[in-house]
Amino acid sequence: RLAEQALVEAVRLQSIFDALLRIARIESGRHDAGFRSVDLSTLLADAVEFHLPDAEARGQKVENHITAGLTLDADPNLLFQAVSNLLDNAIKYTPRAGRVTITLARGEEVVTFTVEDTGIGIAAADLPYVFERFWRADRVRSRASERGGFGLGLAICQWIAQAHGGQLSVQSRLGRGSTFTVTLPLAGAP
Ligand code: ATP
Ligand code: MG
Repeated sequence: RLAEQALVEAVRLQSIFDALLRIARIESGRHDAGFRSVDLSTLLADAVEFHLPDAEARGQKVENHITAGLTLDADPNLLFQAVSNLLDNAIKYTPRAGRVTITLARGEEVVTFTVEDTGIGIAAADLPYVFERFWRADRVRSRASERGGFGLGLAICQWIAQAHGGQLSVQSRLGRGSTFTVTLPLAGAP
C-alpha cells in the first residue's frame, strides 16, 4: 500500500526533524525547554513495548533487565527517540530467532542503559564510523534490510546522549552481535 508507506515515511521524517530541533534548542543553551523529571524505567519499558510486535514478527526474543523507579532530569521525547533508534537497529540487524536484551542500571553518578543484540554485528574497521551521520555499512547489508534508513539513527542517538551531558558507546563483533550503551549523568546536563 503506497499511501500507507508514504504516511509512515512522513511520520518518520517528522520525528527526525522534531528531534533535530529539540537538540538544537538544548545546544543553544535553552535546555530546560523540554527538560523535566522523567521516569526512565517506565520510558524504557514503553519503548520496548512499542517495538515488541516488530521483534515478535521476526521471531526474536526480547529480554528486559530494567531497574524500576529510576528518574532523571531529561527531555522525555528525546530519550524515547534515542532508545527507540537503538531498539530499531537491534531488531533490524538481528536475524530470526535472535535475541535483544535491554538493561537499565544505576551507577553512583550515572544511569546506564544498554541494548544488546545477537545480530550481524559490525566489523572492527567500521566501528569508528557508525555514529557519523549518513553512514551505513556496506550496500548489501543496507539493501538486505527491508526498511531502508538514512544512516541517521545513531548520529541522533549520540547527539541526544550528549545533549543530556552523557555519551553513547558501542562494542560489536561481526557475525556475533552488538551492544550499544548510553550513559547519562544523574545530575542532569551541565
Ligand atoms: P536509520 O537509523 O536512519 O533508519 P540506519 O539504521 O542505517 O538508518 P544508523 O541507525 O545510524 O542508520 O546505523 C548506521 C549503520 O550502523 C547501519 O546502517 C548499520 O550498518 C550499522 N548498525 C547500527 N546498529 C547496528 C546493530 N545493532 N547491529 C549491526 N549493525 C548496526
Ligand atoms: Mg538505525
